Amino acid sequence: MNSLGSIRRSFAPWADPAAKPYISFDGVTKRFGDFTAVNDLSLTIFEREFFALLGASGCGKSTLLRMLAGFEEPSAGRILLDGQDLAGIPPYRRPVNMMFQSYALFPHMTVEQNIAFGLKQDGMPKAQIAERVASMLKLVKLEQFARRKPHQLSGGQRQRVALARSVAKRPKVLLLDEPLGALDKKLREETQFELMDLQQQLGLTFVVVTHDQEEAMTMADRIAIMDKGEVRQVATPAEVYEAPNSRFVADFVGSVNLFEGTVSGNGGNILTIAASDGFEINVENAGAAADGANVWFAIRPEKVRVSSRAPEGSGANVTEGEIWDIAYLGDMTIYHVRLPSGRVVKASQVNAARVIEDALTWHDKAWISFAPDSGVVLTA
Ligand code: ATP
Repeated sequence: MNSLGSIRRSFAPWADPAAKPYISFDGVTKRFGDFTAVNDLSLTIFEREFFALLGASGCGKSTLLRMLAGFEEPSAGRILLDGQDLAGIPPYRRPVNMMFQSYALFPHMTVEQNIAFGLKQDGMPKAQIAERVASMLKLVKLEQFARRKPHQLSGGQRQRVALARSVAKRPKVLLLDEPLGALDKKLREETQFELMDLQQQLGLTFVVVTHDQEEAMTMADRIAIMDKGEVRQVATPAEVYEAPNSRFVADFVGSVNLFEGTVSGNGGNILTIAASDGFEINVENAGAAADGANVWFAIRPEKVRVSSRAPEGSGANVTEGEIWDIAYLGDMTIYHVRLPSGRVVKASQVNAARVIEDALTWHDKAWISFAPDSGVVLTA
C-alpha cells in the first residue's frame, strides 16, 4: 500500500492539462459599497484537493470563502462548482459546508446531538442518523465524549466536534475558516495532521483560510497567496517557497534576503547581477533578463553560508561583513551579518553538533557566500 506521503506526491491534477477543475472562480469581484474586497479574481481548485487561501488580515480570504458557501453573492464574475454556475443557489442547496473559527457549537446540546443536528433537519431517518453519528464520533476519536456538552470539552475536542458536525452531511466541499485558530501551538500541530488524514479518508475537497503560513505549508496541496483582494501566486508549498514569483510572495512566506541590482551579464545558463551592495551575484538557470535590467536576487537564510575565513573560489557570490547579531535558537543559529552598505543579511545554520568549533561572535569579521543555484531572480 502507498503511504499517505506518496499518494499526495503523485496528486497533481493542476499539472494535467486534461484535468477539469472542480471549483472555478472566474473573474470574481466583490464590492462592499465603494470598497473592493475581492478584485477580478480567477482561481481553480481540483476535486480532493487540500487548498489553502493564505494572506494577511483583511485581504479578502473569508469573503472568497463566503461567496463559495453562498453567504455572499459576487458583484461580478462567476463561481462554478462541478460545472454548475452557483449564482442564485442558496447556501443550503450547495454541496458545500462551512466550519467557522468559533465552531458555533450549540452549548445546550451534547456532542452527539450537535453532530446529529444537521442530519435531523434534513429529515434523515433516526436509525441512519444514529449510524452516521457513531461513525463520525469514531472518525474524530470522540466516542467516549458523546454525552458531554461543549463546555465539558477541551478546545481541541470542541474543534473535533465542529469538524464531525460539518462533515456529517457528507458535503463534497468543506470550507474551513481559520479551523485551528483557537488551539494552542502544540495542539495546532497535531490537529493539522488529523485534518489531513480526515480529508484523505473522506476523499473531500478542503478549502481552508489561514493567515498562518506554516499551517498552509504543512497541510495544503496548493496555496493561493492573496493580497488586497487579488491572488499573487498559486503554487505548491515547495514552489511558493523555492520559486516565489515576486518580492511580495518571497517576503510573505518565510524569511528572505533580497539584493537589488542590475543585470550585467547573461552567458550560457549564468546570469550575472551587479548588486547595489557592491558585489557580484552569479545565478544559475535564472531565466532570461535583459542586460541592464533592474532585478532582485532572493535567497533564503538557510542557503547563505557564513564563515570566519574567506571562502575559496571565484569572487562572485561572496562578500564580507561583520557579525551584527546572533540568535541562538537551540536547533539552529541565525546570524545577522552587516555589509559595508548597511544591509543586514540573515544566514541560518543548523546546530548539528553540540560543540561548535570556530564559533563566530559579535563584531567578528565574517564572509557570506552562496551557491549559484541557491536563490531566484525576481523582476517584480
Ligand atoms: P481576516 O483574516 O482578518 O478574517 P480576511 O482576509 O478574511 O481577513 P475578509 O473578511 O474577506 O478578510 O475582508 C476583506 C475586506 O472586506 C476587509 O477590509 C473587510 O473589512 C471588508 N468587508 C468584509 N465584509 C464586509 C461587509 N459585510 N461590509 C463591508 N466591508 C466588508
